[in-house]
Amino acid sequence: YKSKANDYVHEVFQLVKDRNQGEKEFLQATREIFDSLRPVFLKHPEYIHNGILERITEPDRVITFRVAWEDDTGKVQVNRGFRVQFNNSLGPYKGGIRFHPTVNSSIMKFLAFEQTFKNALTGQPIGAGKGGSDFNPKGKSEREIMRFTQSFITELSKYIGPDMDVPAGDIGVGKREIGYMFGQYNRLRGGYEAGVFTGKDPNHGGSLGRKEATGYGTVYFVEEMLKTANDSFEGKKVVVSGSGNVAIYAMEKAIELGALVLACSDSNGYIYDPNGIDVETIKQLKEFDSKRIKEYTKVHKNAVYHEGCMDIWSVACDIALPCATQNEMAKDDAIILIQNGVKAIGEGANMPCTEDAILAFQASGVLFAPAKAANAGGVAVSAMEMSQNSMRLSWTVEEVDEKLKQVMKNIYTSCYNAAESYGHPGNLVIGANIAGFLKVADAMVAHGIH
Ligand code: GLU
Repeated sequence: YKSKANDYVHEVFQLVKDRNQGEKEFLQATREIFDSLRPVFLKHPEYIHNGILERITEPDRVITFRVAWEDDTGKVQVNRGFRVQFNNSLGPYKGGIRFHPTVNSSIMKFLAFEQTFKNALTGQPIGAGKGGSDFNPKGKSEREIMRFTQSFITELSKYIGPDMDVPAGDIGVGKREIGYMFGQYNRLRGGYEAGVFTGKDPNHGGSLGRKEATGYGTVYFVEEMLKTANDSFEGKKVVVSGSGNVAIYAMEKAIELGALVLACSDSNGYIYDPNGIDVETIKQLKEFDSKRIKEYTKVHKNAVYHEGCMDIWSVACDIALPCATQNEMAKDDAIILIQNGVKAIGEGANMPCTEDAILAFQASGVLFAPAKAANAGGVAVSAMEMSQNSMRLSWTVEEVDEKLKQVMKNIYTSCYNAAESYGHPGNLVIGANIAGFLKVADAMVAHGIH
């Protein structure tokens, strides 16, 4: 039977490859999941019988659309919009919207596919989706961003809704853009559907603690992982890539737990501060002034700026938290980190480490927290925002943080236990993939073949 299970995984992967030619990020994410799932089919022949793998790898639907908008000079510009509604077995489609020039079908699909397992891991009633556009917000005026966003939602509004598909932010989309989307959606519908987006400002239906949730959640998850090795953040040297929403709050929480954060980055370069990064300065630069990270050295004279963001991994540390973007840490980076004595990695971004990098860490005994578990805190608090919107009330920041901590602990336990019961003790990559998969697969079996 073992060979039947292996043949099944192999056969379906060939199908997926043929059907998604050239979509390298999507195939990368699929390959990793498939590798983890082999032991599952040994125990669960019903999944083979129900064609779960064939079905779970094909999105329910992919919507692509034209987004036309007028720039400040009066010129008409066209971008491409996407929404991948991947799987709604556990709840309405749920996942962020990304505005970044690299956005394409492969990246949207990999993100939505990962979201399927991530959202299942949270234990909350949310399905999975992802959307975005190749629009580049950098260098655009506030009005241009507003016009683009309104145009984007004018089309997307046909496909979303509080019980249908609930988008949120991602790279290039924060509470300002969510505000524009929410306003436009409500105008089109002629009502007020608070639960159609999450990541809203708390003054109009957003949840307290949502902004901090992904970064804090990553640190809570890594803290759990460190605990099983009788360790903690206290006194550790930490390097965090990125300086967006995830990175800022990962740094904040790591510092609160006694760590020294030595470096962070943006897409141009990184800063190294031997006294420890001052997060308030980063917040001011990034959240309010929209400046480059380089400016940090004007405020903190001891800090040094280095051109080239990828070199951040040459800074020696105990814990590395990649919080920027996919495939930002390759095998070479992993080897340098290992040589410099890194003890733990926590993925705050989606799929920041390449497959080779992950294997290198695992082979060297470095503790590794995979993204779909470690960065699930953001979407977990988004689900809490949906609950608060449905109940028309708001929880305090303390209540939300308490619930977030509990969710991250539960995710850790389910990953740890799944890894153990499927024969790979301590391997949280396999544990996360299996634990997330089982929830979705069982719901798909229960709902019948479609
Ligand atoms: N974009 C975030 C993620 O990758 C958050 C999604 C959400 O809150 O719906 O999980």
